[in-house]
Amino acid sequence: MKATIIGGGIIGLSSAWYLNEAGWQVTVLERGDLRDNCSFGNMGYLSPSHFVPLAAPGMVEKGMAWMFSAKSPFYVRPSLSPDLIRWGWRFMRSCTAAHVQKSARPLVDLLLLSRQLFTEWAASGEMDIQLEQKGCIMFYKTERLEHEETENARAAEQLGLQVEVLDREAARALEPELQPDVRGGVWFKDDAHLYPNALMQQLPVLLEKRGVRIVRHAEVSGFEKKNGKISAVRYQSTEGATQEEVADQDLVVLAAGSWSPQIAKMAGESMLLMPGKGYSTTLDRPVKTLRHPCILLEAKVALTPWAGRLRIGSTMEIGAVNDRILFPRVKGLLEAVPCYLPGYQDDPGFRKLTDWADLKRNLREKIWFGFRPVSADGMPYIGFAQKTPNLMIATGHAMLGLSLGAGTGKVVAEMASGKATSIPMEAFAPGRFA
Ligand SMILES: Cc1cc2nc3c(=O)[nH]c(=O)nc-3n(C[C@H](O)[C@H](O)[C@H](O)COP(=O)(O)OP(=O)(O)OC[C@H]3O[C@@H](n4cnc5c(N)ncnc54)[C@H](O)[C@@H]3O)c2cc1C
Repeated sequence: MKATIIGGGIIGLSSAWYLNEAGWQVTVLERGDLRDNCSFGNMGYLSPSHFVPLAAPGMVEKGMAWMFSAKSPFYVRPSLSPDLIRWGWRFMRSCTAAHVQKSARPLVDLLLLSRQLFTEWAASGEMDIQLEQKGCIMFYKTERLEHEETENARAAEQLGLQVEVLDREAARALEPELQPDVRGGVWFKDDAHLYPNALMQQLPVLLEKRGVRIVRHAEVSGFEKKNGKISAVRYQSTEGATQEEVADQDLVVLAAGSWSPQIAKMAGESMLLMPGKGYSTTLDRPVKTLRHPCILLEAKVALTPWAGRLRIGSTMEIGAVNDRILFPRVKGLLEAVPCYLPGYQDDPGFRKLTDWADLKRNLREKIWFGFRPVSADGMPYIGFAQKTPNLMIATGHAMLGLSLGAGTGKVVAEMASGKATSIPMEAFAPGRFA
């Protein structure tokens, strides 16, 4: 049986991994060179703690308020684009307590499955991805966030997760070098983290060793259909402008992240999905050691430590793909760091990074950005397409694409092979808005 996967991000490559393992002959078509996409510069969190989908009560109000702040962490770029209007309408309707309650169990199940699979990858010795399970600490400064996060902690316990609520002293004891200036925090102990750049560099090499064919610089440009099924995937070489195709495929998996709606359209399918741009920057050899990944809740800034490295990232700008880096937003996210973790104030690397004139001059070199594929209810789309029986959709993972990567690949292979899935998949059905 032959499968073509469109997109070489974590979702496409994980799908290739498990389809190959299940005996499929796999081709991956990737527009770029597999040296960068949204799956590289992210924070590396494997987050069972993130069981609340992006579409949750209060998000619309927060989004409206933040639209008028140049430094806000969440922003919807106003536009009359019909795609944004349709997505926004569905997103607003999904921001309900009922949606959060219905989504939590399926999300936790897929997050835990995925973390377990990544742990197996790391333990196999085939990959060096710096996976560690130290949990993730959500730090807060205000009573409002303390209330929200401790409620979240209770919900997490009900889902079977391990959490510890920390007062200011306990938070300081966990991060002695940074001396958090916070009211307290919640430590989600099931969370793990890995170094995504290492994962994304090693995966294609291992896949090719296992016989997966990866075609780089291959931009999918259309499909041929016979009796409603895709019979060939056409692609254009981005290097030589030649047209080629992969024919006689039994299965096509659409895993092109933020670019998936345009490709779905070529196959006669529709998909509500918007790109959500985020930034990160990586500091080499910080003097101060952060011992746990953490999220600064009011500021919505995330920090991840790896041996000799610290990554700081955040922001969600919903809008069409573009390569603009908004300096005020980058500045806003970096300014938040020493407010919570004053220890960074005298870290030479951090001080150099926050020399604003230098940063402004070297913005492209110092700031990475990627586009999270954000579905209209914050839940991924995983399963067969509505009108095309041999097309499978695997995208829309928003801020959880890495966390859900290996698990998504596993269930994609199970569904493709007609097997029972490791976890129930109804909540992720691509046709759920029809
Ligand atoms: C700042 C930031 C921090 C984040 N932190 C985390 C985190 O800590 N944990 C977490 O779980 N998630 C995190 N995320 C989200 C996560 O990175 C994404 O959800 C994930 O990378 C999406 O993976 P993907 O494979 O769907 O898409 P991508 O990685 O974008 O891959 C899609 C691929 O499809 C290719 N493509 C597009 N069009 C075509 C075409 N026509 N033909 C062929 N190929 C095509 C693209 O070139 C690309 O390589 C973060 C995101 C950002 C921006």
